[in-house]
Amino acid sequence: MTEKAKKKLDSLFEAFSIIAEGKYVFLTDMRHDYSRWSQKAVDFFDLPSVYMENAGVVWAAHIHPDDRANYEKSIQDIFSGKSSGHDMQYRALAGDGNYVVCTCRGVVISDPEGNPDYFAGAILNHGMLSYIDVVTGLRSLYGFFDDLQALLWRQSDAVIMLTGISAFSSINDLYGYTFGNNVLNSVSTLLQREFANSGAVYRLDGTKFAIISHVLDVDQMRDIYNRIRDRLASHYTVEDEKLSLSINAGILVVDSYDVSTETLSSCLRYAYYESKNKKWGNAVVFSDKISAENQQRIEKLNVIRRSVTDGCTGFFLYYQPIVDAKTEELHCVESLIRWKNNEFGLVPPNDFIPVLEQDILFPELGRWILRRAMEDGKKLLEYYPNLIVNVNISYSQLEVSTFSSEVIQMLDDLQFPPQNLCLEITERCRMLDITMLKNMFRKLQSHGIRIALDDFGTGYSSIGLIRDIPVNTFKIDREYVKNVEQSSADQRTVQFITKLAESFGAEVCVEGVETADMRDFLRQYRISSFQGYLYSKPIPIEDLMAKYCTPDKLKKSHEAPAVS
Ligand code: C2E
Ligand code: CA
Ligand code: CA
Repeated sequence: MTEKAKKKLDSLFEAFSIIAEGKYVFLTDMRHDYSRWSQKAVDFFDLPSVYMENAGVVWAAHIHPDDRANYEKSIQDIFSGKSSGHDMQYRALAGDGNYVVCTCRGVVISDPEGNPDYFAGAILNHGMLSYIDVVTGLRSLYGFFDDLQALLWRQSDAVIMLTGISAFSSINDLYGYTFGNNVLNSVSTLLQREFANSGAVYRLDGTKFAIISHVLDVDQMRDIYNRIRDRLASHYTVEDEKLSLSINAGILVVDSYDVSTETLSSCLRYAYYESKNKKWGNAVVFSDKISAENQQRIEKLNVIRRSVTDGCTGFFLYYQPIVDAKTEELHCVESLIRWKNNEFGLVPPNDFIPVLEQDILFPELGRWILRRAMEDGKKLLEYYPNLIVNVNISYSQLEVSTFSSEVIQMLDDLQFPPQNLCLEITERCRMLDITMLKNMFRKLQSHGIRIALDDFGTGYSSIGLIRDIPVNTFKIDREYVKNVEQSSADQRTVQFITKLAESFGAEVCVEGVETADMRDFLRQYRISSFQGYLYSKPIPIEDLMAKYCTPDKLKKSHEAPAVS
């Protein structure tokens, strides 16, 4: 084979491999039966070299014996001129000794006289497919996690960004799914262009993309993001359609390595949702504090995450009483999670719940919380048969399709009366599919379980939620009552929420009642219960029982039959 023929093969191969992104490619000079194969194929299948004579024979040895005859026949037909290409599936032996399923498409390219000149082919490795996103050709979520793991192993610093398009379902609804995919493709191209020399781009789930950069700092990453955001915000054209896309971004600096990839991912998601829900798409950097603090925060979250996988060690529940507004007798208790270990001490929930909620593990912790709250609650029910145990439920628990059946099963297992359980949800569950939510809550309520809407009025969609879901109790957030005695705006807000609750036939609980004056002032409104430091801070179950579960209560509870 001449040098010239080799050079031509090489240059054709380079062009060809660019087109066939995500697949292994080969190109055979049929006159000389001399081939060039992708380096990745050589690595994966442990082939002798990227240049091979008689590659058909070499490759045939890698094909599963049951599929080999088919392959050999097809290659003979191609070389003898009987066929002009093949499209077949077979199993091929990888370097690690396992077979992977491959699809191989090849075509014969003839010279102007019609003689076979080149045989060009692309092999798709289905075993590797999940690492490549089929819509954009980018590395997928799996590839992203692999690369995160690799950078932790190598201990290399990185800045990572998670970005995604808001309200994408309206594009799919309006223009169709195929167009939606074209938009994703176009955004993927834009991202690849903007990060051409500075970062690797990944397509994660849904409309989310990630970028890992080893050269940019946070400010540079943010600058590029802002440029992309401006570009997408107006007159962004895909197939002659002018679109306006809004995007969000969470940014994370990786400068410590003894953490899990899942912890990093949860931190990123947390920052992303802050950007989406609170910052109108401005990039949010996870913990904008100095690096050492950032590092400590991630480490702490990592340890907390591991405690969940360790059977929820280190977690425990405190309980805060909620009293009847008129009689000030115990009406409910709210369970509130805490976590403690020797290194980090007692950690309040606001330090870990918002991030851990983004973690796939959260539902496991959620189950533990529910079970423990019911077990403790049963002890209280001996003294207060009508007492309601309130448990906070994160939207990510509701995402699990079996949530309602699990709760019902747990009530049954523990023999806990459903009418004594109240699930506190927040308006964040509006992010989930509303039909799914409606069905779920209908099912729970048909069993007698109560629903409270927590932090009423703090998000955008509390009102939208109560329209769709019958809520038993509105809990007015502490923010609205902090200055209620002085602030006429707060007074109007409390007035409005209580009226609204009345029209929906719901009770109202006010949180953050700290003083007797505040309680007295609030009594002019239609409020059923009070919760706050005036009565008690959240305390361990033993302390709560010592305070409220006196022997006379036990006697009384046996005299008065429970009402449901
Ligand atoms: P939240 O559900 O709104 O809980 C009420 C928070 O207000 C509690 O904070 C409580 O200690 C505090 N609080 C109660 N009365 C007063 C008062 O009079 N003054 C002041 N300043 N604060 C008062 P905590 O326990 O730190 O919990 C914070 C948040 O963490 C909770 O807010 C809830 O969103 C979340 N959280 C706590 N436990 C759980 C849980 O088991 N599951 C889930 N998903 N979230 C939880
Ligand atoms: Ca709550
Ligand atoms: Ca609340």
